[in-house]
Amino acid sequence: MKLILLGAPGAGKGTQADILCEKLDIPTISTGNILRAAVKNGTPTGLKAKAFMDAGQLVPDEVIIGIISERLEEPDCAKGYILDGVPRTIAQAEALEKAGIAFDCVVSLEISDEEICERMGGRRVCPDCGASYHVVAVPPKAEGVCDKCGGKLIQRKDDAPETVKSRLEVYHKETEPLKAFYAERGLLKAVENQPTVEATSQAILRVLGR
Ligand code: AMP
Repeated sequence: MKLILLGAPGAGKGTQADILCEKLDIPTISTGNILRAAVKNGTPTGLKAKAFMDAGQLVPDEVIIGIISERLEEPDCAKGYILDGVPRTIAQAEALEKAGIAFDCVVSLEISDEEICERMGGRRVCPDCGASYHVVAVPPKAEGVCDKCGGKLIQRKDDAPETVKSRLEVYHKETEPLKAFYAERGLLKAVENQPTVEATSQAILRVLGR
């Protein structure tokens, strides 16, 4: 199963990808997590990406295409994967298509901008393993501590209200056109955000026929 999760920043792609990854037994590939790790480790890619990320802008396509092509070559991707946060532009989608990758389904998580803005303030992430939480919707077992690795949870710099606003603008301009791109290919399934994380997962699994 090769799956793409589309949706605005904060739509819950990371949370849903974690759940689906366990249910479907395939890895999640998150370019956001790969880039954050690169920034943390001070790699050349990280140095290139940091300013774009802090400003809520997209990292240039050629950097992302390089990262994703390399990652999809790894052995754990052989039986399928869930792409979280990539592709984010038509150029990235075309690059994946050119690489001969045939997706089974593209799930678009639908949620209003107002709800996103309310949500983002509560998001917390683990800088060590990339796990994502929400103080109300998906709290960790112990406050401020990652359930998975014990790391100290932080608020992402790019979750600040002003940055969220520009990230939403970028989403509508650059990423939302991907819905039409994949609808034309008969792959798009829209899933409305549900009141709980579990209900949204159920709705996704339903459209996947699982
Ligand atoms: P995310 O965790 O998916 O919200 O990504 C955090 C930031 O990383 C984004 O705001 C972008 O600056 C950058 N980024 C992640 N994935 C991509 C992508 N596919 N294309 C361009 N920039 C990306």
